[in-house]
Amino acid sequence: AALLKIEEVDLPNGWNVAEPVPYAALAKVFSLIEATTKRIEKTSLLTSFLLLVIRRRAEGDTQSLLQAVYLCINRLCPDYMGIELGIGESLLVKAISESTGRSLATVKAELKKEGDLGLVAMNSKNSQKTLFKPKPLTLPTVFKNLKEIAMSSGHSSQNKKVSIITKLLASCQGQEAKYIVRSLEGKLRIGNAERTVLVALAHAAVLAEQESANKRLNTEKLAARLEEAAGIIKQVYSELPNYDLVIPALLNAGIDGLKEKCKLSPGVPLKPMLAKPTKAIGEVLDKFEGKKFTCEYKYDGERAQVHKLADGTIAVFSRNSEDMSKKYPDLMEQLPRCVKEGTETFVFDAEAVAIDKDTAKLLPFQELSRRKRKDVKVEDIKVRVCLFAFDLLYLNGEPLLQKDFAERRALLQEHFQPVEHEFQFAKASDAETVDEIQTFLEESVKDGCEGLMVKMLEGEFSHYQPSRRTVNWLKLKKDYLAGVGDSLDLVVVGGYYGKGKRTNVYGAFLLACYDADAEEYQTICKIGTGFSDEALQAHYETLKPLEVHAPRGDIKIGGAKPDVWFEPKVVWEVLTADLSLSPIYTAAQGLVEERGISLRFPRFIKVREDKEADDATGPEQIAEMYQRQALAQTKGGKKSKGG
Ligand code: ATP
Repeated sequence: AALLKIEEVDLPNGWNVAEPVPYAALAKVFSLIEATTKRIEKTSLLTSFLLLVIRRRAEGDTQSLLQAVYLCINRLCPDYMGIELGIGESLLVKAISESTGRSLATVKAELKKEGDLGLVAMNSKNSQKTLFKPKPLTLPTVFKNLKEIAMSSGHSSQNKKVSIITKLLASCQGQEAKYIVRSLEGKLRIGNAERTVLVALAHAAVLAEQESANKRLNTEKLAARLEEAAGIIKQVYSELPNYDLVIPALLNAGIDGLKEKCKLSPGVPLKPMLAKPTKAIGEVLDKFEGKKFTCEYKYDGERAQVHKLADGTIAVFSRNSEDMSKKYPDLMEQLPRCVKEGTETFVFDAEAVAIDKDTAKLLPFQELSRRKRKDVKVEDIKVRVCLFAFDLLYLNGEPLLQKDFAERRALLQEHFQPVEHEFQFAKASDAETVDEIQTFLEESVKDGCEGLMVKMLEGEFSHYQPSRRTVNWLKLKKDYLAGVGDSLDLVVVGGYYGKGKRTNVYGAFLLACYDADAEEYQTICKIGTGFSDEALQAHYETLKPLEVHAPRGDIKIGGAKPDVWFEPKVVWEVLTADLSLSPIYTAAQGLVEERGISLRFPRFIKVREDKEADDATGPEQIAEMYQRQALAQTKGGKKSKGG
């Protein structure tokens, strides 16, 4: 059925010709995807679309499928290359006005009403009388233009961007302007998670393979093959998150040849494995009952994934796969000293922690976050950084993800050596009982850490799972034991003007969590107490430039009414005394109850500079926290400390 819907798009020359796919076909697919909430339908629509792209490509062409996939996930290249869309509202308003001849004021007024710049662009285009039909946009043209916009920098880049956008918009027909503008904003907002695109890619590849082999599997066999293919692509992509490499390999070697061709390789950062919070040591023991586990210090720094490539280059990547080599010239200089002879290529996982030059004491994360992120010169560095390595993912040409953690750790210790103040292995203990773990936890806090990480040591569950947050890694922070639970990382989406002395700054803020599946921010609380005047001033300076005319369409507002809205960019770590159901806020609506969940007495901890808005806490985690709290209350109050 989905296939038919796409065929309705006016495809010049039909399906099976080697010609670029019109952008109209993608816009049509986007609108159909937006109109359904069913994951299966979204997947099948995307599958049909990607199959269309595969069919229409010329012999040997791998780029058209690559570009199609990038457009579907609204990216232009792998994350770590840092070329991103995310054009500000004012620039887009200007381009829409220039391309459609409507005044800036009209466009802004409509934006205020609609709350969706994409819609405003489409309406503006469609109400414009044109003499002749523009030449249809194709996928390669749109992709090329988007990339050019994202890559233009320097002093005249604003004008250049507006000019390309204006021209692009001039060629738009039907719904195209809506999706092009949303792409430019950085969010498609059609509820199209990357996971769905991966599955669709696998399905399209299977169907294309069958077509070219002129083979038809029966329904049962086909279903099994589709599932198998999706599994293969997901695994391969988690090891090698780079479509530039995976898609050509898929087209050339087929699904079955993919694993052999695409393996973790130094230079391509993996999405890091993450941990689930636990509230009590007893819980740790319940979860790991009968299994071998280890406790490590949870250092309070910044995640650092260190790669050494075959050509000798060393690279350090952040939690978000950002290349941090320019932020850490000192680490780059230090690193060779910890590598033992015979260790050629590698990827290890570590925490970079600020330490005091004289006393070698660990300093809190804030010290590190004060560093500039770019163009740091070694001679200007005031805070020293020590790496605490805790995992080895690749060694001398071999990926280690599927090996037991105990083995990975042994290899790490065998191939690297501690260097005072520069490189250490994460301090670990084989503590097994509540008392032993409690003692080690207290020790970690005394030494300037956040608490402990508890990890499975042996068996399948101890394998490294990129990007997954599972119970195979548990975090135990000292704060949890005080009964407050894990902190949340929330996006600042709105501001309330201050009162009294504080009328020139925002006095309170509206926070939201992020639902990656629905691609939307869900409001969760207003936070306004506990800020010093200096802090309010600093937040004002960061947030003022992010003010927008209307809340972005991907903010599920509920009953919140801030005085101003922001582009969702800034992430704050926040603690709460309690979670409660709320008629106003929309976080996790429908997960526990119809009503959303809100934070009571939220307290600001710090700005999470290492997180982007999309890394904010998700609704499932919030629902989980709420349910856990409810459970603790029915059990007769919170568990006793450490128990
Ligand atoms: P948090 O606010 O707790 O850091 P997070 O979402 O950044 O949350 P989590 O999965 O909750 O990440 O916690 C794991 C983080 O703790 C890692 O990303 C890493 O930066 C840090 N960390 C410190 N010490 C260790 C360790 N020994 N093993 C693994 N991660 C560690």
